[in-house]
Amino acid sequence: MKITNVSCILASSPVPVEKRYRTDLGWMSKYDNTYVKVETDEGITGYGATYGTPEIVKAIVETQLCYLLVDEDPTYIERLWQKMYCGARGERSIQAAYSMPDYLRGGQTMAAISAIDIALWDILGKSMGQPVYKLLGACRDRVKAYASGGWETADKIGQEVQEYTKKGFRAVKIRAEGKEGSFRIESSIQRVAAVRAAVGPEIDIFVDAHGSLDFSTAERYAHELEKYQVGWLEEPITPEDYESLARLRAKTSVPIATGEREILRFGFLHLAQQGIDVLQPDLSLAGGITEGRRIAAVAAAYHTKIATHNWGNPLLVAASLHFALSQPNYYLFEVGQSSSPLMTQALKEPFDIRDGYIYPNDKPGFGVEFREDFFENYPFVPGPDFIS
Ligand SMILES: [Mg+2]
Repeated sequence: MKITNVSCILASSPVPVEKRYRTDLGWMSKYDNTYVKVETDEGITGYGATYGTPEIVKAIVETQLCYLLVDEDPTYIERLWQKMYCGARGERSIQAAYSMPDYLRGGQTMAAISAIDIALWDILGKSMGQPVYKLLGACRDRVKAYASGGWETADKIGQEVQEYTKKGFRAVKIRAEGKEGSFRIESSIQRVAAVRAAVGPEIDIFVDAHGSLDFSTAERYAHELEKYQVGWLEEPITPEDYESLARLRAKTSVPIATGEREILRFGFLHLAQQGIDVLQPDLSLAGGITEGRRIAAVAAAYHTKIATHNWGNPLLVAASLHFALSQPNYYLFEVGQSSSPLMTQALKEPFDIRDGYIYPNDKPGFGVEFREDFFENYPFVPGPDFIS
């Protein structure tokens, strides 16, 4: 089997002005999805996805990486990952048995590599007639999931999270700021208290600050959260400041989670060494499933758990699910509760989520099929998704 073409498909769903609201991330004007399509001479097509910036990823895939892949056997996934990572020195690095990465193999380029890697695993599964998680070496047949939402203000957030527990979730994540419009420890803690009161003592609660706090605020905030049995505080401060994350971890009993903006095993090694409790790679940014396995192995060496960031793209959710099913140190699976039509209108079959777990189907590859009219119905809209 040979690769014949590698291309991107972009999709958007604008948010009507009257439905927009502001969070610490800004005003959301639209939802975007970026897909990679890898075609072969045997008629098998693999799909990948990334959380990277759509137009930039498309340019990297279609003007750079595709030339490294056409005419290659798509089932040689480690080889192709190395070729994409090392560029023109890919062949030489494989012969030498060590990496010689090309310039700028982070950021958007790694997002593009990640999406292609995911598509190659989809092809491998389809060509073998097996779900990807079995090819990765299955560990479990379902994964415990949490509802990821919690944007409402203190007077409404109890009701919001009760909607999630009614769906069967036994764990919920809320935003530290949400729709409040600004972050204050007192009002954020009122929201956490409202959630604890609404769900009772048995439900796990997690809080995500999106890397938006300074150190002293994060320290005082974590101290307050200790009273509410919070399962983790996510991205309390900027995720690249490894030393401060370690300092914060030493000052609080609340577990610290981070990693959705981190890439490659080297970055995650730093985080694991700082005592971070839960590493959260986004497989569509950090290096795909191939690198995700290496990251999970690094984490396992520090007895650290993995809980991938699975936001906004149904193919990423499917790829992350297969990864989660295969990794012994996988902890909890994020199920986004946004109302994005790109999540609800893309696939022929919805995900099987019940009793607080997400289950795979046993179809080949990632087991997903797009609705025929999906890409026509959601044409790409240029420009940023969040605006200030
Ligand atoms: Mg997060």
